[in-house]
Amino acid sequence: MAKDEPKCAFCGRSRNDVGILIIGPDGANICDECAKLCVEMTNSQSARKNPAAEEMSPAKVADTVSKMRTEKKPDAEPLKPIALKKPSEIRATLDDYVIGQEQAKKVLSVAVYNHYKRLNDKLFGGAAATGTASEVVPAADLKNVEVEKSNILVIGPTGCGKTLLARTLARVLDVPFAIADATTLTQAGYVGEDVENILVRLLQAADGDVQRAETGIVYVDEIDKIGRKSDSASVTRDVSGEGVQQALLKIIEGSVCNVPPNGGRKHPDQKYVQIDTSNILFICGGAFVGLERIIGSRIGNKFLGFDTSVETGKELSAEQIMAELQPEDLFEFGMIPEFVGRLPIVSALSQLGRKDLEHILTQPKNALIKQYRKLLALEGVELVFEDDAVSAIAEKAIKLGTGARGLRSILEKIMLETMYELPNRGNAKRVVINADVVSGSAQPQISG
Ligand code: ADP
Repeated sequence: MAKDEPKCAFCGRSRNDVGILIIGPDGANICDECAKLCVEMTNSQSARKNPAAEEMSPAKVADTVSKMRTEKKPDAEPLKPIALKKPSEIRATLDDYVIGQEQAKKVLSVAVYNHYKRLNDKLFGGAAATGTASEVVPAADLKNVEVEKSNILVIGPTGCGKTLLARTLARVLDVPFAIADATTLTQAGYVGEDVENILVRLLQAADGDVQRAETGIVYVDEIDKIGRKSDSASVTRDVSGEGVQQALLKIIEGSVCNVPPNGGRKHPDQKYVQIDTSNILFICGGAFVGLERIIGSRIGNKFLGFDTSVETGKELSAEQIMAELQPEDLFEFGMIPEFVGRLPIVSALSQLGRKDLEHILTQPKNALIKQYRKLLALEGVELVFEDDAVSAIAEKAIKLGTGARGLRSILEKIMLETMYELPNRGNAKRVVINADVVSGSAQPQISG
């Protein structure tokens, strides 16, 4: 935005973001919404009784605009406090869907619990915070303490469950959830998606209810790809990534954004919905390939020896190295300090091993194998995966190097022929898959 672009002196929005902007002398401009509000204020009963009581400072108008904006629309359901679950309860639900990643589950359960406790307190007051029957009165010195929002950074290789964790958290708390891909975002003025479009998806997930959207969770994927030094294949994108970090920063730290309700680029004639992001929880995730090296060389310098600890002389595992992560390593990686500062909770997820992948295939509530078993059960056919087949699939996925992401495509390939043929064989009752089927040296055994 150009520096000298005229703005409303009351709410600060620019010409593009309002219906009409009336330009006054020396920057004394006012937009249609603030002008309407001023008329309402001068007409109000109290103003008539006591004109001095309604002094219209810009701050007061801005505050009232913000209140008007968040006032309940007649057709919107009144916003209720979020039904808060204890960290242990949140964790238990995560366990139903996500295999392994124990430390991350604990960190996220506590972070999300605190976030919604803070939000309930802010929007509904003390008793609503944790759903307790009686109001807990904080000590006098804590009354005016405002708990800051703590967004979360999750670091881990592809397909280890970062998105799944964020999605499951939103499900536990029954709040709107949206996923955004940082690589598609651009600074205003460049080709690509405006950063505000992240919020369009959240608004859609909340069925257009702004108040509900304002309590949601956004997962921003591939956050490592907007590092300052990242090379971009696209020449049209802001190659440095720093501009995108700056633009995202405003949203994740909490601001009122003008969002085009149907998405797309901003243009002058568009109507906007205003979304306040100060209570939206942002979970940013990325693989941060090379971060271990950065941490390793820093602690290596300290201990005189890369990747080794001086006391034992043993190699440090990836997890041990990640446990040493400091904000400066993320700066070195290319994230700007202000951005890192807005993601105070950092959790590292580990690469999934063969056993984890086997469990992912069979254990979660909607485990992939259970899904195929159900598909076939709908045709009256029992599907059996022998143990060696499950191990072979996990082994194949490890070779693909895309974590649990590879599992579905491997399974889809194995099952394709069977799913094509079965409807033609009315008498089939049972299908058995073993390791040879997985390796491609045998066909599934179908029996009647
Ligand atoms: P990423 O870490 O790249 O965000 P995702 O969370 O999108 O990975 O994982 C892709 C898919 O792999 C998920 O939809 C899920 O089916 C499976 N998956 C990945 N990690 C786990 C895990 N720890 N537990 C269970 N399923 C997982």
